[in-house]
Amino acid sequence: MRKWFAQIVLWMGFLGVTLGASPLPRAAAPSVAELQAMVVKLAPLQRKLGPPRPGDWLSIHEEEGQTFKEYLVCAPVLPRGKRHVLYLQPLGEFSPDQRRIVNLTGEFMGLYFNLPVKPLEDLPLSVIPSRARRTLAESGAEQILTSYVLKRILKSRLPWDGAAALALTATDLWPRDGWNFVFGEASLKARVGVWSIHRYGDPSKDAVAFRLCLLRAIATATHETGHIFSMRHCTRYACNMNGSETLEEADQQPLALCPECLAKLCWATRTRPLDHLHRMEAFCLKMGLKQEEAFYRQSIQALEAHR
Ligand SMILES: [Zn+2]
Ligand SMILES: [Zn+2]
Repeated sequence: MRKWFAQIVLWMGFLGVTLGASPLPRAAAPSVAELQAMVVKLAPLQRKLGPPRPGDWLSIHEEEGQTFKEYLVCAPVLPRGKRHVLYLQPLGEFSPDQRRIVNLTGEFMGLYFNLPVKPLEDLPLSVIPSRARRTLAESGAEQILTSYVLKRILKSRLPWDGAAALALTATDLWPRDGWNFVFGEASLKARVGVWSIHRYGDPSKDAVAFRLCLLRAIATATHETGHIFSMRHCTRYACNMNGSETLEEADQQPLALCPECLAKLCWATRTRPLDHLHRMEAFCLKMGLKQEEAFYRQSIQALEAHR
C-alpha cells in the first residue's frame, strides 16, 4: 500500500461545470477504414514510450496496452443512445479561480467528447457525515472519503440519460485506511467518480499557476472519462491515456491522444479526427496552452497534407 503517492488506478476525471454545453453539429461518423488511415498519417508525429523509469506507472503495473482494433472488439461502453450526457456534481466550496477551472474543464470536456456536459446543483460538504470525514494530521487538511461520495452521493443521482456522473471538489480525498490521500477514485461499473483539485496548485497565484492547474484538470478529466468509455492505458506512445503514478509523471504526459487512442475516441463519439483536432487547437489557443496548441496544429497539418 502506498501511503504518500497518489495512486491513479481508478481515477475518474473531474469534469468542470459548464452551463448548457451542447453537442456540436456532427458530420458523418468516420468509418473504421478512415480512422485506420488517420492512425498511419499521424504516427510519424508520435513519441514512442521508452523503458519506464523506476517509480513510473509502467515500472509498477504490467499493462499490455490496447490497439484501436482491440478496442473495437472489446464491446466498449459507448456514450450513445439514451446515455449520452456527462453530469457534474460540484461538492463543497470553490474559490473564484477554482470555479473558473471547473467551468473551463466542463467546456473542454464538451469539446473533447462532443457530448453535452450538464451541472447538477452544488452540494455543500455538510452532506458528508463525520464518519466519512477526517483531518490529515500532517497538513491539517480536511479530507472526505471517496467511497461515501461514490456510493451515497452519486450513485442515486446519476440521471437516466447520464453516460457518467462525476463529483468534483477542492477538498482533499482519501480512499480507505492506510492511505494518506488520493486525487480521485471511480466506480467504472456504476459510471460515477469523484475528483479533487486540492493538490493541483493554487490557480490564483499567477497566470502560469492557473494554466498548470487547468492543464492538469482537463488532462485528468479526459483521461478518466476515456476509461469510462473503455479506453485502456496506452503503453505505446506518449499519450493522454498513459497511466501515471505521481503528479510529476502525469505532468510529463501530453494532453493530446496518440493516433491509436484518438481513433478510439473518434469511434466512440462518432467524431471526425480533424473536427476534434480543430476544437482542441482552438481551446488551447484561447487558454494560452502553447505547447499543446502547437502539437494539435502539427497534427491538423499532417492530416490535411494527406487529403
Ligand atoms: Zn488511468
Ligand atoms: Zn495512446
